Amino acid sequence: MRTLLAALALALGPGAALAAPAAPAAGKTSITWYGHAAFVVTTPGGTVLAIDPFFQNPRSPDPKAGETLPRIDYVLVTHGHGDHVGDAIAIGKRTGAKLIASFDLCKALVNAGYPAAQAGYATCGNIGGTIQAGDAEVTMVPAVHSSSFGDQPGAAEEGHPLGFLIRVKGGPTIYHTGDTDVTMDMKLIPERWGPVDVMLACIGGHFTMDPRGAALAATFVGARTVIPMHYQTYPVLSGTPAELERALAALHSRARVRVLVPGAPTAF
Ligand SMILES: [Zn+2]
Repeated sequence: MRTLLAALALALGPGAALAAPAAPAAGKTSITWYGHAAFVVTTPGGTVLAIDPFFQNPRSPDPKAGETLPRIDYVLVTHGHGDHVGDAIAIGKRTGAKLIASFDLCKALVNAGYPAAQAGYATCGNIGGTIQAGDAEVTMVPAVHSSSFGDQPGAAEEGHPLGFLIRVKGGPTIYHTGDTDVTMDMKLIPERWGPVDVMLACIGGHFTMDPRGAALAATFVGARTVIPMHYQTYPVLSGTPAELERALAALHSRARVRVLVPGAPTAF
């Protein structure tokens, strides 16, 4: 079935006309993957969060989603690299979405045009902080990576890279790892914040953890479901979901791998 759906997504190809993610069924949270690290989460209360909105990535089912999604309440950006900032600034200008990012990256994005009134103390924070985002709480957790923004000479580090732990009221706890390797710090996540229902885990390798690292990370956070991301977007990101499944099996993990079809809302 998974293979069939993947083939269908390939057949549709990039740019296939897709409607905006449907409102989730009552009481459910909808997660839509747009390829790479880009996700749109819609909560039971109707809050819409766009995470790392690089909608123009090579595996995106809808490169114009940043221009057409009818509602985005919050834009979450894990770190300053272009494959994560993506369309954040244009989305902020068009939709009025508030920016959830590290304080330093917020400053950099405001300097680049993100509306300042939507990137203030209410939503810009740092590791350990929790932001109220409608009926979800977003906690900023560590990621081990780098975070520069912009191509200008001397582009500075723009804050520490983050992962996001999104606790949806009456819904799942979702952990977006950002770009990172597996770290011992991940063991603190379930201890501090409770079990992770859905882990959005980078598996591509080269710039982040590979499938074996992601499998170990899934055991560290006690993830029930692992959705692989940040793989096969470019040839160098060579990790595959099949490798993730094998690595989880080798660790005797009960975590279930769920490969999302880009553009297809999935209820949790
Ligand atoms: Zn990346």
